[in-house]
Amino acid sequence: MSVQVTGISGIPLIQKGDDLPAIICRNTTFEDEDILCIASTIVSKAKGYTRALADITPSPDALRISGLTKEDPRFIQAILDSSTEIIQEYPFILSEVPCGHVGVRAGVDNSNIEGENIIILPKDPSAECREIRDSIKKITGKNVGVIVTDTCGRAFRRGQCGNAIGWAGMTAIRDFRGDHDLFGLELEITEEAVVDEIAAFSNFIMGESNNGIPAVKFSGCGTWKGHDSLYFTKEEDLIRKAMKR
Ligand code: GDP
Ligand code: MN
Ligand code: MN
Ligand code: MN
Repeated sequence: MSVQVTGISGIPLIQKGDDLPAIICRNTTFEDEDILCIASTIVSKAKGYTRALADITPSPDALRISGLTKEDPRFIQAILDSSTEIIQEYPFILSEVPCGHVGVRAGVDNSNIEGENIIILPKDPSAECREIRDSIKKITGKNVGVIVTDTCGRAFRRGQCGNAIGWAGMTAIRDFRGDHDLFGLELEITEEAVVDEIAAFSNFIMGESNNGIPAVKFSGCGTWKGHDSLYFTKEEDLIRKAMKR
């Protein structure tokens, strides 16, 4: 397998109302089975999933948590508003967001946005992916997989990685269960989170600061079989259970 990875340059600073698929298609070409990773930051900016700190009034809870974390209580309030379940408040808020993703500060982000504004994760990032995929199909005639990414911290290891928070045109997981290894052993457990692997490498191409590369194209990944149950159920999630104790 040989995979070509291309950072898509020429994308302007994204504003609310911008047509991302059109902008991306002006700056690259697509073939069937290509995979397009897009930073959630620009999806949110294009869709207006942003907030001005000046418009946010912190609740008593936000003020209390802000006393612990020393962060702006308006920023904390935006995190609370974006969360469906708070797993931990301190030293940073760890919470679940509506799509099932669990992340630090609910993915609320103040990087790469102008002024005293913050970026909120799309509520249904896979729906954003489907919309972008459909638009690219209309513009180019090609069937492209789409992943919306965000840079996330990890348990157990230092260093952030790109994660897939939404996807379309592929399954999240490549399921190896039932396959046989080199010696005929049947695999019983192995499910590979392919969308996260691809998102992680796209994040490497994007960088975090001033690269100006919010979209990355992968050619040659092929296809795989699997399923979309990327998130543990609360019953399955041992770490979450331990943290809630
Ligand atoms: P996040 O991981 O979704 O929070 O996105 P980042 O803030 O880490 O940005 C990822 C990449 O996109 C970096 O290379 C940024 O410089 C770039 N980026 C962010 N916003 C824009 C934008 O509006 N236009 C362009 N061209 N690049 C952007
Ligand atoms: Mn950011
Ligand atoms: Mn982010
Ligand atoms: Mn990032």
